[in-house]
Amino acid sequence: MEPLEAELERARDLDAGELADAIESIGFECTRCGGCCTGYAPDEPGGAPAGEGVDDDGSGDPADREPHTATVFPDEVRAVAGAAEAEFGESYDWRDVARPMPFGLSAGDDGELAGETFEWALATDDCGDCAFYEETDGQGACAVHDDRPLICQTYPFSVALDGTSQPMGEAVDEAGVVRAHECEGLGRDISREDAEELAASLKERAVRELEEAIGVRDGYDPTAADRADGDVVVFDSEGAKEADGTPVDGD
Ligand code: SF4
Repeated sequence: MEPLEAELERARDLDAGELADAIESIGFECTRCGGCCTGYAPDEPGGAPAGEGVDDDGSGDPADREPHTATVFPDEVRAVAGAAEAEFGESYDWRDVARPMPFGLSAGDDGELAGETFEWALATDDCGDCAFYEETDGQGACAVHDDRPLICQTYPFSVALDGTSQPMGEAVDEAGVVRAHECEGLGRDISREDAEELAASLKERAVRELEEAIGVRDGYDPTAADRADGDVVVFDSEGAKEADGTPVDGD
């Protein structure tokens, strides 16, 4: 069996009760600090590539702050767009929700990013924060909370299987296959009900990440870049797309 298929089988066999036990033993309560929804300084934990920083203080140095970078699946892009349209009463297109994941891209002759990438990242605003992050009196909120992507539902946890993502750098705690990443809400009491809900989402995310990876692998077409209108091609499980989410001609 191919390695990704083997991992997918392991993800489908994960025991949600054991995941909930692990989450309970680590402990977590969201403090609504916004840390997982906003950009961050380069010396904070994170993985945005160099050169993708945001000049948020007008100093001219884009490395001041790295943009929030979180993976979003193609169907989640549409769900978030629908939720944002319902919330704000205006039309949201693909680019309002997602941008090509910058990892693997490099600056072309015109300074714009170019190349092939294999994921979408949530769109960010001028400060490098998630486009759907709202803050009132220091309390963060998500404008698309009920339809937020699985990565948001499950942060700061991940499952340690090959082919699943480990957001925001190294784990700071672990129990069984569950890894916990930098977050001020770790270590707090969590109810069994909340732990079970998180565990179910964590398992769903692990399965979805592997299904997505298999879809990307199987659909990869090295000639897509030649047919694309733009300099960036994003391969997701639905095929090759332009940076604005439209399929590359012929896909
Ligand atoms: S979609 Fe919502 S939960 Fe996810 S990063 Fe953006 S504001 Fe945060």
